[in-house]
Amino acid sequence: MIVEGAIVDLDGPRRGYVRLDGQRVIETGAIGTDSSHGRERRVRGIVVPAPVNAHTHLGDSGYRQEPPRGSLAEVVGAPEGAKFRYLSGTTSREKVSGMREALRRMSREGTAGAIDFREEGLAGARLLRRAAGKLPLDLRILGRPLRRPVEERELEQLLAVADGIGLSSAREEDRETRRKIASACKAQGKRYALHASEESRELPEEYLDPLPDLLVHLLSATEEDLATVARAQVPVAVCPRSNALFGHAPDLSAFERAGVTSLLGTDNGMLNAPSLFRELEFAYVSQRLRHRGVSPGFLVRAAFLSPWAWLGRPEAARIQPGHDTPKLIFRLPVEDPEYSLVARATEQLIVRPESPRPA
Ligand SMILES: [Zn+2]
Repeated sequence: MIVEGAIVDLDGPRRGYVRLDGQRVIETGAIGTDSSHGRERRVRGIVVPAPVNAHTHLGDSGYRQEPPRGSLAEVVGAPEGAKFRYLSGTTSREKVSGMREALRRMSREGTAGAIDFREEGLAGARLLRRAAGKLPLDLRILGRPLRRPVEERELEQLLAVADGIGLSSAREEDRETRRKIASACKAQGKRYALHASEESRELPEEYLDPLPDLLVHLLSATEEDLATVARAQVPVAVCPRSNALFGHAPDLSAFERAGVTSLLGTDNGMLNAPSLFRELEFAYVSQRLRHRGVSPGFLVRAAFLSPWAWLGRPEAARIQPGHDTPKLIFRLPVEDPEYSLVARATEQLIVRPESPRPA
């Protein structure tokens, strides 16, 4: 099959064609120069690496009501918020089924990876592994140890199942706890991440000590804080729809100006569908609404490209011959491919390489 139109990857957006054999790229080049002699199925559209959902809490996906209109603490705070009451009052089986439904939806929409903050300690991480089963999705679980002070044994057991640790915030965990956790992660080649400056500003010298592999939100960070984070080269996952439900909005144009490596996530399953297409559109439109526009290219990098380096699979952020890394083909206008991906992409416009030519 040949896709003629545009390629969007780490080398930037460009016109061209991609010849595919299943998921494997066998040729790329200028339109009209392919070697198929016109014998193959031809589609006009955009080829892009598959997106990665860089921040989820899939554990509460089985909570299916309208979320309460309260503060962050009332909705997702431990232990009394609606989320934690759901987690403690729901059977493992139901939780697994909610998580599986969310994972299946992501997979159907072409999301090829997810970075999840999983509460409930070792048991929580195990439930998510069970929910993920053999779904074709590169899922990284960042678990959360339950006991304080941190116990080495619990940490060890948790890290045997999880890919790292995702903490609530630097405010809620003292420095000694953070250091102990970060060094255990580092010793095992695992990741240490935390939420920061969500409801109110926290100091970079707090949340950057010890240096995390990933920060989440930075909603209340100043321009100076963002510059500090950019210099420290710590990527930040942002979740604008989730923030909006609490009446907040990150200023992504400041992230872009500061050169923060930004990733896009959909946050709690109880708040939003885990759809990056919805997140992308909302992120773009809400910034324009406040006269603080971000470039489509910034959001494309956040959803489709930058996460692959974080996952340790940088080759997946490029469309190149000889590779069968996860990628998507969209039947979308190719004139301004980054804008098309941000503002027009939906699951229905994905072309499946195996699917027969439509009538
Ligand atoms: Zn979160």
